Amino acid sequence: MSITTNEMNDDSTVYKTLLESTKAIPWKIDWDSMQFVYIGPQIKELLGWERESWKSVDDWITRMHEDDRERVASFCVAQSKAGIDHEADYRALTSDGDYVWIRDVVHVVRRDDGSVDSLIGFMFDISERKKTEEKLVDLQKELEDLSFKDGLTGVANRRMFDSILDLEWSNARRSKRPLSLILLDIDFFKEYNDFYGHLRGDDCLKLVAQTLGAAATRARDFFARFGGEEFIFVLPETDAEAAEKIAERCQELIAKLEIPHQGSKVSDCLTVSMGIGTIVPVHGDEQKEFVELVDQRLYAAKDAGRNQKVSI
Ligand code: GH3
Ligand code: MG
Ligand code: MG
Repeated sequence: MSITTNEMNDDSTVYKTLLESTKAIPWKIDWDSMQFVYIGPQIKELLGWERESWKSVDDWITRMHEDDRERVASFCVAQSKAGIDHEADYRALTSDGDYVWIRDVVHVVRRDDGSVDSLIGFMFDISERKKTEEKLVDLQKELEDLSFKDGLTGVANRRMFDSILDLEWSNARRSKRPLSLILLDIDFFKEYNDFYGHLRGDDCLKLVAQTLGAAATRARDFFARFGGEEFIFVLPETDAEAAEKIAERCQELIAKLEIPHQGSKVSDCLTVSMGIGTIVPVHGDEQKEFVELVDQRLYAAKDAGRNQKVSI
């Protein structure tokens, strides 16, 4: 809906006083000359620029954050030409060199013949709202991170593992490339807790998680805490031979830590057992069954005496 110039001509003192005492900053631009014919005195307080310095549309555009400029200018010009009232959010430059988030609400005034006469609008300071929005986005991100992160060790949790395996399973099916899993379980960890106490048990889990996390280094390699003292790797585009190497590296890294483990029946230091599996999934293969197969291999490693890996 547009108002004609005739209806606009009764610009009374009351209106002016009202307009200039609100927080919203009123303005008017003449369409033909692209000059400001009016801007509220409040502009000085908000952005610091003298009221008289707002001469043309260029002053408005150049005092806009460069990342917003193109988007906002082209949108407003297009809408105005089409005679459509519109709104735009952008960061306006202050005379101190800071930015303030503004929402400009624009009304297109048309002449009796329908041509555009002028634009009138209000600038609203929406910095507080934007800050709240940004805080919400940060909080949401934090929440997402937390819901996919294991609270004790800080590595990804089981939930994240499930999502990643889903994704990589589909990728492997599509690309017909091998996908490997390594499931690790600490040997005699119950005895570790019994001997050193639960708190040192927790510290040990943290150290093991951090150490193992560094064993696979390709961009899509994924590592998670699978359960209590069990960890898992998802290794896309990794064949059996490469997975075996990573498992060896895990064993070496754990050995290097030399964590004393007096309760262990296989070594003086902490050791792990591993089940390894590699698959090029085809139609009919189930990821759940594949994880179970790797789990069975882990238990075969336990049965065979622990501190070793089983891959067939
Ligand atoms: P195995 O060699 O057969 O794996 O023996 P194990 O004792 O490691 O296996 P078991 O599954 O019997 O015990 C796992 C132990 O891990 C029992 C549990 O108390 C401990 N555990 C699980 N989660 C945590 C944790 O968050 N912190 C600590 N400190 N211990 C944990
Ligand atoms: Mg276990
Ligand atoms: Mg164990």
